[in-house]
Amino acid sequence: MPGLYVHVPFCVRKCLYCDFYSLPTAAGPVARRVTAEDQPDQPAFLEALAIELAALPPDFAPDSIFIGGGTPTELSRADLAALLDLVRERVPMERVVEWTCESNPGTLTPEKIRTLLRAGVNRFSIGVQSFDPATLEFLGRIHSADEARAGFRLLRELGVGNINVDLMYGVPGSDLDTVRRDVDALLELAPDHAACYCLIFEDGTPLAELRNRGFVNETDDEAELAQYDLVRSALGAAGYRHYEISNFAKPGRECRHNLLYWGSGEYIGVGPSAHSHWRGERFGNVRDLDAYIRRMREGRSARAFSERLDPEAKARETLVMALRRLDGVSAAEFESETGFDYRALCAEPLSWMTREGLLEERDNRLRLTERGLFVSDAIFAELV
Ligand code: SF4
Repeated sequence: MPGLYVHVPFCVRKCLYCDFYSLPTAAGPVARRVTAEDQPDQPAFLEALAIELAALPPDFAPDSIFIGGGTPTELSRADLAALLDLVRERVPMERVVEWTCESNPGTLTPEKIRTLLRAGVNRFSIGVQSFDPATLEFLGRIHSADEARAGFRLLRELGVGNINVDLMYGVPGSDLDTVRRDVDALLELAPDHAACYCLIFEDGTPLAELRNRGFVNETDDEAELAQYDLVRSALGAAGYRHYEISNFAKPGRECRHNLLYWGSGEYIGVGPSAHSHWRGERFGNVRDLDAYIRRMREGRSARAFSERLDPEAKARETLVMALRRLDGVSAAEFESETGFDYRALCAEPLSWMTREGLLEERDNRLRLTERGLFVSDAIFAELV
């Protein structure tokens, strides 16, 4: 069953490290306000989204929906309700098993949460990143640790039974103790799911610029590995299953929608910069709100690119995505899905990476080893 992704391209303020496509707005508790002329046109975005949703393939019936961004909860309650109505008008809701909405603790209100719940949202993802005031300030987050805790508790009080918390490690200035305190604070809240990512210095972000000018140093690999190991062991001891490189879930709480991405499943993304994988084709929308709105109004496609991978490239991509899951990939499933034997397809890199203890094959399944988990990006680069 496919999934639907909806990209909401607004945030109260841009975080230092963020390279997702989103525009800052003047709404919310924000220190740096944008001027009226800079204000992104949210009503026009909703109109454009309505056009794109109405043009989805007639046989598209997702069983998971993910509203992400950006910060979907940056929208006003009325705009959020309008967006949810648009989705409900287009999607046969009886098929939907999981409907996630991302949120930033600085933008959660009881009214918005009730609106989301009434529409059918049954999973919330809350971007906390850290409970350490200095780390939050460094990252440019708009919320405090107390606001993050309050937002989480509010979700629980209003009956949300499935919550993910995002946490970040490898942040300059933080150390093993900071990460230990962050994980303890997360465990105190007892979310159903945790996504713990290492901070990446993405090119083009203010964070990378600060590093390039010598104001900030990246955390060294050894310290990052120690922090990752701490996250893994603490969450594992608390009953979370480590099921993807950066994702941990209480039993049965794995994110269905994200499993689609890692299982090379089909999904359609709507909104500026959203990506899709549908009927053998990968495509992505323009990363520009004004261009997106213009194209939708003119009845043109929102796509900035589309590609059809040849069978071998597709098989390699499938292998890399599947290896993100800790239970790896079975030779038989891989062959039936792609028509290739991964042992023949990637014979040379698989051979030396197995010898080096980065990958292992047990019970006819190929998976990353503990050592391989931390250097997965380098492993995947060898396999594609
Ligand atoms: S809230 Fe999320 S999407 Fe928005 S700027 Fe920060 S990291 Fe990026």
